[in-house]
Parts: sequence; C-alpha cells; structure tokens
Amino acid sequence: MNFGNVDFNTYFKNYPDENGFFGKYGGCYISPELSNAMKEITEAYFSICQSRKFINELRRIRKEFQGRPTPISHLERLSNRIGNVQLYVKREDLNHTGAHKLNHCMGEALLAKYMGKKKIIAETGAGQHGVALATAAAYFGLECDIYMGSVDIKKQAPNVARMKILGANVVEVTHGLATLKEAVDAAFAAYANEYKDAIYCIGSVLGPHPFPMMVRDFQSVVGIEAREQFNDMTGHLPDAIVACVGGGSNAAGFFSGFLNDSVDIYGIEPLGRGPKLGDHAASLKYGTEGIMHGFNSIMLKDENGEPAPVYSVASGLDYPSSGPEHAFLQEIGRVKYDVIGDDDTIKAFFALSRLEGIIPAIESSHAVAYGIKLAKEMGKGSVLINLSGRGDKDMDYILENYGNGENFNLDQYLK
Ligand SMILES: *Cc1c(COP(=O)(O)O)cnc(C)c1O
Repeated sequence: MNFGNVDFNTYFKNYPDENGFFGKYGGCYISPELSNAMKEITEAYFSICQSRKFINELRRIRKEFQGRPTPISHLERLSNRIGNVQLYVKREDLNHTGAHKLNHCMGEALLAKYMGKKKIIAETGAGQHGVALATAAAYFGLECDIYMGSVDIKKQAPNVARMKILGANVVEVTHGLATLKEAVDAAFAAYANEYKDAIYCIGSVLGPHPFPMMVRDFQSVVGIEAREQFNDMTGHLPDAIVACVGGGSNAAGFFSGFLNDSVDIYGIEPLGRGPKLGDHAASLKYGTEGIMHGFNSIMLKDENGEPAPVYSVASGLDYPSSGPEHAFLQEIGRVKYDVIGDDDTIKAFFALSRLEGIIPAIESSHAVAYGIKLAKEMGKGSVLINLSGRGDKDMDYILENYGNGENFNLDQYLK
C-alpha cells in the first residue's frame, strides 16, 4: 500500500533511514560525546537484537514473565448500547505491571545485559516508566538509577515506593521547576559520565536515534499480536483502530501491525481543558516543528521557543511533543491524529468500568472515548482500541475529583 511516495510494503526497512529520520523528523541532535554512545547502542541494536539468541530469549520472557500474548476482548455490552458498530480492546492492561511500557523496558534491559552494561539510567515524570524499568532491572539483576524531580517525587509517592521496593535508586532532582524536564537533563548528564558502564533507557518513542526506532520495534509485538488475534476472532481486520498518544510508544507499536492494511488509523492526543496553550498536550494538532531532547518533531512552544507548559488529566500524556514517526505519519496522511478532552475521557472511563468490568488507565480512556465517538459516527463496522494500561494507579485521583461515578448518566453519554 502506498501513501504519497511512501511504500508500506517496505516501510520498516526504510523508516527511519540510517541517520534516524522519518522524512524530516527524528535524527540525533546531541553532544559529540553522547553521539558516540548513541552509535554504540545503534550498532549493538542491529547486531544483537536481530540475533536468534536475543529474539528467542525475549520471546520466552514475554511469555513466561510478562504473560503475553495479552488477549483481545469484545466489548459486547458497550457496543450494543451504542448501536451496530462492534468495539474491541487489545488488553495491554493485562501485561505485567499493568501497562504496555514493560514491553520496551524488557527489550532495552535485555540489550543492556547483552552489551555487558551494569546499570540502566532513566528519568521519570509520573513514575510509570520508572516502575517498568525498575521491574526490568530487578529481573535482570542490573543496577537502576531513576532521575525524578522533587515535585514529582512528592506527587507520586506510591510509584516512588514501588521503585524503591524493586531495588531502584531514585535520584532526586531539585533544580529549576524540579519536574520532568529537569529530570531528563539530569539523567542525560549522568549518562554522559557513565556511558561505558551504563545504558540510557528512554520511556517512549522519543529522544535521539536509535530510541524512536528501537522502542517502536520492541512495542511492535502489540500490533503483530493484535492483527493476528483479531483476524482469528472475526475472520477479517478491523475497519478502524485507535490508540492514545503521549510520547507515542503504545500507538507506534500497535499501529505498526496495520500500516500496510486498508484500516483507518487514529492517534488520540489529550485536549485537556481546551485548545488554549497550557490547557492541553495536543502537540501534533497545535504544535510546530522544532528540536528538543535530541530529536526534530512537532512540539508545543512558549513565546521563547522553549517547550511550553502542558496539561492533561492523564499524567502519562502530558509531554510537549510526540515521537518523530508520528509527526511523519501525520504529514503523509497515513494516520489521522485527533483530540479528546478531559470530560469525554472520564465518561469513557466510567462506561468501560461499569459495562465491561475493565477499569482503564486515564491515558487509555482517551482512546476508548474516541472509539465510542467513532462508533456513533460510523453506524456499522468494527473498531479495535489499544487499552494501553489499567486504572488502578488512578483510583485516588478519580475518587477525589469525580467520585465513584454514581451521578454519571450512562444513557445520556451513549445515546
Ligand atoms: C505512559 C503511558 C501512556 C503514554 O505513553 P505513550 O508513549 O504515548 O504510549 C499511555 N498509557 C499508559 C497506560 C501509560 O502508562
């Protein structure tokens, strides 16, 4: 299948190119010192990760430790309430640790082991990436330094506790606003000093080459499984697929299985409280081209051209840019990127919980909300949604801000 001048039969061979570009997006914009470290990782990735031994070991880990393949569930009651469109979810909430992030963390940590590294380094904002990586480090017996702003450490106490219980070293970052951006800078600075013994593990399809490619490839297991499972279940492919987009890792992996099919693909960004800068994190919709954190993509900027403040009810989606591959897939028109705000997200959260017995992560609820909206518009057909994670981590926040959903009117929402 072709889109513009992009041939999707050979897409994974050609994108990214050898310098890490998806069209004009991506690349590796970092100091010469770190550049060498990135070259080492890239070379290791191509030699080690394509080897039979590595592939077989990762396969075994996915099956025996992560509990893969995760199933697809048909949302029968929810679909019937809306009309004739059949909704399905790919259950990454059932992946070990409760979200898709472990898929690339296990891959990155296994690569670290094969490269003979002793330590893995990363930053975390809401703590989800930190917990997934600390899990991988414990599994492989690697040291693990997680850089985290002091503001986030206070806000995310349960995740900080999880990381420590798993044996990770949480390094507090106190300078500047002491949140994610400062944690990224501190983690990169530490890595520049320690790259001989350590490897940096990014949390999404972001950062300098080879990370956007590597994380996508490790996450592609979600798309490969989903395509086969859906076909086995229904005898055909879905008419449309939907995933939420923060940095874009769950979406990139899920989409990769369907890019060469005649399936409509939707990536959903958080509109938060509305379209005013500072009220959302919809970078692909409202952003402009720019370089941050080592790569060229579409980003939200303030008046000084710096990464703008962002907001979403889902802390895993509030990043001021998205992976370069998403900027590219938007530009050539293969994937449609759209937005869903906080209100619809919370309604979808309660609808899925009450009608299907699945409490979704607030991040994933964005995709569910968009799937419901599509189902109302389409009238017939099928929609497969990537349920990137479970909502256990969001219970306190939901109860405090929305209660237990007693006053939520399902009929009104689904009509
Ligand atoms: C972190 C997270 C996301 C957002 O990250 P992507 O890289 O955009 O996938 C989405 N869902 C869940 C459950 C998460 O934990």
